[in-house]
Amino acid sequence: MVVWFGLFGLGGPALYSGDAASEREVVQASAGMGPIAESGAKPVLIEQISYEPGKPSEGDAFPEAASLSENNKAAAAPQEQEQKQNQKQNEKLLYLTFDDGPSENTKQVLDILKREGIAATFFVLGEQVLKQPEIAKRIVAEGHAIGNHTFNHKYDRLYGSFAEFAGQVMKTDEAIYKTLGIRTTLFRAPGGTYSNFDQGYFDAMAEAGYQVHDWNVDSGDSKRVGVPAAEILSTIKKSKLAATLNVLLHDGKGHAESVKALPAILKYYKSKGYTFVPLTDQVKPIQFNVAKQLKWDRAKVSKPEKQSLIAFSEKLGRNSLLGQAEPNAPSLILHRGEQRLELSKEEYRLRNGSIEVPLLKLSEWVGGITKLDLEHGIIEAYYDGNQVLKLSSQTGKMTVEQSERMAVPVRATLEKFGIIITSVVYNDQQREIWLSA
Ligand SMILES: [Zn+2]
Repeated sequence: MVVWFGLFGLGGPALYSGDAASEREVVQASAGMGPIAESGAKPVLIEQISYEPGKPSEGDAFPEAASLSENNKAAAAPQEQEQKQNQKQNEKLLYLTFDDGPSENTKQVLDILKREGIAATFFVLGEQVLKQPEIAKRIVAEGHAIGNHTFNHKYDRLYGSFAEFAGQVMKTDEAIYKTLGIRTTLFRAPGGTYSNFDQGYFDAMAEAGYQVHDWNVDSGDSKRVGVPAAEILSTIKKSKLAATLNVLLHDGKGHAESVKALPAILKYYKSKGYTFVPLTDQVKPIQFNVAKQLKWDRAKVSKPEKQSLIAFSEKLGRNSLLGQAEPNAPSLILHRGEQRLELSKEEYRLRNGSIEVPLLKLSEWVGGITKLDLEHGIIEAYYDGNQVLKLSSQTGKMTVEQSERMAVPVRATLEKFGIIITSVVYNDQQREIWLSA
């Protein structure tokens, strides 16, 4: 279903055609000097909000939301294709990943990586982080990425019910935060997602802002206990090479053979011209397809189960959907000539130094037209017949209710509509924004 919002045929104000950058400089310069003299604006600037550095307004979709979009249904191949375009030509990237730690084996892994000058990613167990906090700290201190690998890795518990799974994801998120002072949205499913995750698991994780990473090279170091180093190396060498590799290894208890194989593995991939990089939240995950037949007999992910994970992530401000309102916050009022838009405290938020507001409301107010493609989770905003913004949801689907809560940074978004913010008042009692006509 495609839904259109906004008024057709009513032109709305003409697109701003001047030099946006210099206009902005004037505004900011005068704002810094106190009361704004130009253009008859009355407000006194009480507090300056710092905004994220603006991207050029033309062209590409809103970067934050776009980077969050994922297509879980897609096989690994098209994702690699897309990733390739973002890489420097011919640059081959390798994400080395270690699961199930930290353990005593992690220390040696870290020593080897340090010697080779290589950064990797460690998908840690919450339980192990609490048992081995010093080793966990070393991982971060030495420049590696940390990912969440659930709390206790027990398949039957994790895949027997989504409530238990979500509980472990959150518990591990907290364990990592408490121990290391960082939040991570990188996630790897114990045993991988294939035949463990259904679409409901994928959707909930994506909606909560996690990136679920499977792999495309399995070193085979966990297919039975004590796989010898020589066998691990030969499995690696037999694996298909690609422009981007995500290599699965283990640094948990009982994986001394993986440590032993590691120097030769690194040497092999270096000889093939790979650059070793840690995962970030900007990397499109390699994901397995959803299996037709799951290993587990369980109920579908229920709304309340999913909601607890999403509420957790909303509290952390991870989601592109508006979440909990700031208590006792005043309404946010936007002014444009004689026009006024009042947003209740549930309808805006301050995130990463930007004021975020619902795209649908903002677009409609400034005279834009919004097209909603709920089946594919895409919102497009048009102004004067031109597409100014295209957002996609993290799940590749969207309900009307979600679309209404899809938040965008007000300044960057208005700029795409050719509208400039001339001043802002933002404090505990008063929150108002004045726009250019
Ligand atoms: Zn594991």
